[in-house]
Amino acid sequence: MNNMRLHFLITSEQRAFGAMFFKDMNEDVLAFVYPTDTARTFHTFFCPPMRIIALSSDGQVLFDQIISKWRFVKLPACRYVIECGPKADYRSYVKTVLSISPDLPQSGVIDPSASMDSLLFALLAEAISDIRRIRDTHRGRIRSTIQRRKFEVWERGQIVSSAGFLLDFCDASRLSIPSSAVRLAYSILQVEEPYLDELVAASVAGIPWQQEFPNDCMRCGKPGSWRPILRPAPDVPVELTWRYQRPENAIPICHHCTETLDLLRNESMQIDLAWGLWGSRFEALWRWHRARKNHHLPNWNMVAFPLWPREFSGDTWETGSGALKDARPRPPYQVERGEEHMDSLRRALFSKAFRRRQLGETHLQKLLNFRLDIS
Ligand SMILES: [Zn+2]
Repeated sequence: MNNMRLHFLITSEQRAFGAMFFKDMNEDVLAFVYPTDTARTFHTFFCPPMRIIALSSDGQVLFDQIISKWRFVKLPACRYVIECGPKADYRSYVKTVLSISPDLPQSGVIDPSASMDSLLFALLAEAISDIRRIRDTHRGRIRSTIQRRKFEVWERGQIVSSAGFLLDFCDASRLSIPSSAVRLAYSILQVEEPYLDELVAASVAGIPWQQEFPNDCMRCGKPGSWRPILRPAPDVPVELTWRYQRPENAIPICHHCTETLDLLRNESMQIDLAWGLWGSRFEALWRWHRARKNHHLPNWNMVAFPLWPREFSGDTWETGSGALKDARPRPPYQVERGEEHMDSLRRALFSKAFRRRQLGETHLQKLLNFRLDIS
């Protein structure tokens, strides 16, 4: 009992994932801390059997049930929600949980009582259209080989979420969903089951970004393209390849500069450019790449840290964090660079003379300062 871990879930991302993909809840107690008292809808989809307890702001127990099926759970107006193993004694944690009432960020907090219906219908419409795509692609029985070949990993992540949502919704609502859609959703979850962790990580962290990022060549500023640096070994399963498509593994460079620097034949220069541009974010990816190659990859919590294990980096975007909050693709703005990173950038960029006029570092600076506000 005393080797149990208490986790606080305070940001909206943390809450959104909750206990999903925990194997069991025997050693974990999750505490969801909210800024206000509101009726809330929880779901247990992808979660192990668990006990859900809802508390008022002064610690009164308003709801206490063991939920062993994947479904929506409607909770009364409450301030704290605790999730733990079916047999766990949560009482010893209540005092600690109640002591946490920080100034919580209000942005991004969805008030379920106000928007649940329209949110549900938007999700439902999306889920059904995903399932339709599956039907049109597979024409009959769902096969893993087709799923793995025809869809990008991040799309497969969104499809399993949709399938799960559809089944759950079907259980919880009075609306009838066509039985063919329900069957398809079941089959999808069944064939994707071995890959769920990576698929869900990719649905957030593996989404395409090349179209949204500036593509000015980091050496000369003319239009270029983002060139990946590390390559997956032939034995890397397709479910893991999305990490090689991350921006941290790419540099923007034009065809002309690629030729001038003889970049394709100079692997160490490629590494210099990526390392200099992305700092510890490239280092963390590199560590993941090496660890996988040498079969030393630790088991890690991919829901909380989709990109790479926590110990591979610092705790912030700037210092290489692979946590969920830092998982959406972003340009290299604000990445922390030491002298060693700037040296390696200059070593590569100035290794060949510029023709005609001598350029400064303006293009590089423009890239390093680029800001992309993602809503
Ligand atoms: Zn160029």
